[in-house]
Amino acid sequence: MRINEIFYSLQGEGYFTGTPAIFIRFSGCNLDCVFCDTAHKTFVDMSEDDIMEAISAYPATHVVLTGGEPTLQLTSSLVGKLHAAGKFVQIETNGTQPLPALCDIDWITCSPKYRPVMLSHIDELKVVYQTPAQDMSQYDKYDAAVYSLQPCDVNDEKKNVETLKNAIVYCLAHPKWRLSLQTHKMLNIR
Ligand code: SF4
Repeated sequence: MRINEIFYSLQGEGYFTGTPAIFIRFSGCNLDCVFCDTAHKTFVDMSEDDIMEAISAYPATHVVLTGGEPTLQLTSSLVGKLHAAGKFVQIETNGTQPLPALCDIDWITCSPKYRPVMLSHIDELKVVYQTPAQDMSQYDKYDAAVYSLQPCDVNDEKKNVETLKNAIVYCLAHPKWRLSLQTHKMLNIR
């Protein structure tokens, strides 16, 4: 598997914000979003056992499979090994690829990105909110337990403040949505 990095930190965004978590960042993505803020293209080839060995250094049970797009490489056997090690497995995906068969992931966070979503189940729908705002009615068709609205970081303080204000106004007017902030950037942690 092409792994960009494995590291230990707090989950910075979404429903599990603040949760100590082991991040397995898969390299590569099938999309090329203009606002992508993740350097995921470099990689080291690792076997599933290499990955299990690497994460054994960390005490947390929460594991985040992220990218890039983790479903391009994920296997049900890796998820099985994580479960056998007592881990709670969260995936962060753009939803454009189905999950591997028999892949019993504990929490699916899906951030749709202008392509049809191929998942039969979503736990958390996480939408990157932009200025000007995208048509939010496009997300009405998704059922999820949690709806997270995350202001888009465009590396421009003035625009980011405007987007944050707009996102707060949107959540207050549409209370099924909750605000998701990229707290790892505020805290200057990974
Ligand atoms: S789907 Fe996510 S990782 Fe892929 S290019 Fe878009 S923002 Fe980046």
